[in-house]
Amino acid sequence: MVKLIVFHRRRGEVSVEDWNAVWRGAYLDGLGKLPGSPRVVLDVPVPGQDGTRADGIDEVEWDDLGAAREAVGGAWLRYLIERASATQAEGWPCGGLFDERVVMEPPARGAGAKRMGRIHRLTGLDAKTFDARWRDEHGPLVLALPGIAGYVQQVAVQPVTGLAALDGVAVLWFADRAAAEQAFAGPAGEAARADAAEIMDAARVAATYVEERDAAAAAVVEDAPPGVWRNWSGLVRCQPQRIEMPRSEAELIAAVRRADREGLTVRVAGTGHSFTPLCASDGLLLSLDGMTGLVSASPERVEATAWAGTTIHDLGPLLHAHGLAMENMGDIDRQTLGGAVGTGTHGTGRELGSISTQVLGLRLITARGEVVDCSATEEPELWRAARVSLGALGVISQVRLRLVPAFRLHEMRWDWPFDRAMAALDRMISDNHHFEYFWNPQTDLCAMKSLNPTWREPGDATTGQRIDWSHRVFPSERTFRFNEMEFALPAERGPECVRAVRALMRERFPDVALPIEYRTLAADDIPLSPASGRATVTISVHQAAQLDHRTFFGEVEDVFRAHGGRPHWGKLHTHRAAALAALYLDWPRFQAVRRRLDPDGRFLNPHLRQLLEA
Ligand SMILES: Cc1cc2nc3c(=O)[nH]c(=O)nc-3n(C[C@H](O)[C@H](O)[C@H](O)COP(=O)(O)OP(=O)(O)OC[C@H]3O[C@@H](n4cnc5c(N)ncnc54)[C@H](O)[C@@H]3O)c2cc1C
Repeated sequence: MVKLIVFHRRRGEVSVEDWNAVWRGAYLDGLGKLPGSPRVVLDVPVPGQDGTRADGIDEVEWDDLGAAREAVGGAWLRYLIERASATQAEGWPCGGLFDERVVMEPPARGAGAKRMGRIHRLTGLDAKTFDARWRDEHGPLVLALPGIAGYVQQVAVQPVTGLAALDGVAVLWFADRAAAEQAFAGPAGEAARADAAEIMDAARVAATYVEERDAAAAAVVEDAPPGVWRNWSGLVRCQPQRIEMPRSEAELIAAVRRADREGLTVRVAGTGHSFTPLCASDGLLLSLDGMTGLVSASPERVEATAWAGTTIHDLGPLLHAHGLAMENMGDIDRQTLGGAVGTGTHGTGRELGSISTQVLGLRLITARGEVVDCSATEEPELWRAARVSLGALGVISQVRLRLVPAFRLHEMRWDWPFDRAMAALDRMISDNHHFEYFWNPQTDLCAMKSLNPTWREPGDATTGQRIDWSHRVFPSERTFRFNEMEFALPAERGPECVRAVRALMRERFPDVALPIEYRTLAADDIPLSPASGRATVTISVHQAAQLDHRTFFGEVEDVFRAHGGRPHWGKLHTHRAAALAALYLDWPRFQAVRRRLDPDGRFLNPHLRQLLEA
């Protein structure tokens, strides 16, 4: 079964606000959840669509994808031919023919500017007027298209040479090039090929094929073969001699001791959500998937102890059952507690630190298989260091967390142009418990997001807002695979740094479709925490997992470096020990603890040696 979801706004029938709400609520949010499917962005009624529903969504079903494509393609072509001739005089842009696909491209920036310059001349408008016109008339679609472009790149159009993440992309499939050429024969096709006519009256319709497939089967990053471990983005792979999953502390200790006797490198992996090769091992790779759940919880002391293999996702409801919650979380909740503590995973907040700052105590299994408990009062120097320790001090088996009474969060999301977002930034940060934004390089809009504790009920939320228990509101879902780089900067340098990264992206990497994320983090006293000793802003950039991120990330890293940034340990960077030592005041303290706990470097893989050994 193939379903086509058609979003449409008939001018005068559906308000822009409703249309935006549809995009936001039903489409953009759902985009990442849809199973791998080819998509089409359309501006055309298709057979079976009545186009009258007030919510702006129709669903049309076909038996198979071929039939769906044929129907949509046919409808689009008819429309294309009509519109191409009608708009040719206006000289609006459209795309070209690539092999058996037609790619429609609304305006681009940077690398596309030359082409756009030609289009501007054709339209007789200067770039500014053109942009304003495009944005005014096509705003909602432009807003949605970068996501679609990224998605198209991910699942549908890899063989299309020259397809870049522009403001928008629409792809039409034909059985072969001959069929496409035939379809585009004649004056209308000529017009399309010549980039001479705009065919997308974008405010009207965009549509999505949904091929009914199991979401898991649609994962872009294919599963690793047996015996091979890979991280979430697929960038890191390793083939350890053994992968073991102990089911108890005794089994964990035995596994570590065995590896020590055999002289094997020991690494422990959480859910592999780090982009750097922290977990890679050619010796023993431990998974704590068998050591999950609560050890104890105390609503009176407002704390709980959990096994380190517990994911934050699973922890939420367990704590909630005791009337407890974590005070802050990151963007997602798929990480294990051990992994989150391992890298200093953080969310955003005016006065809130990373998850590591919530750690009251840890139990570690050392390289020799000894059990060590640490806290502010027991082995305090170890506790200080172990709260961000990259799995280099030992295997954390249990984590004791400082919590807060369960609370509800009120989430608000809205879009502002970059300049407006930056002008309001300080106020946004100080007025909200948690504030962050995602700058969209293709639209120059910032997706603003605030979270504030509330006593109100879920039903009190109005459109575009959300109220629910914190563990449900904090995390987002990220099914679109990407690689990421994030640096932690002195808070006061955040604004100038994000401006510099934005300028670089516009100038040098206009095709990148994924956003910059801007968050805040309170100072802490953890030696290897990126927020150690200073109020912090974190800025991250992303690139789709199947695209090469290296040149882009390399140049952004230079900007971060120039602004005194410290890399997120789990996100891509090229910093090595000497540079890192200069960034962390307490570097020697961490190293002293590490040499005491792991004198033989049992927990060091090549990546960690580069990070920790001069
Ligand atoms: C989609 C996505 C969203 C993300 N969002 C955020 C975010 O909002 N904020 C943020 O700060 N980061 C974020 N990250 C990064 C992520 O939170 C960190 O990389 C985190 O460490 C991953 O946890 P994990 O369980 O997958 O650990 P892994 O990546 O598997 O391991 C991370 C490190 O922890 C060590 N480790 C794991 N378990 C143990 C243990 N039991 N004992 C000792 N060491 C251990 C590993 O050896 C490794 O060094 C995100 C990553 C992705 C892919």
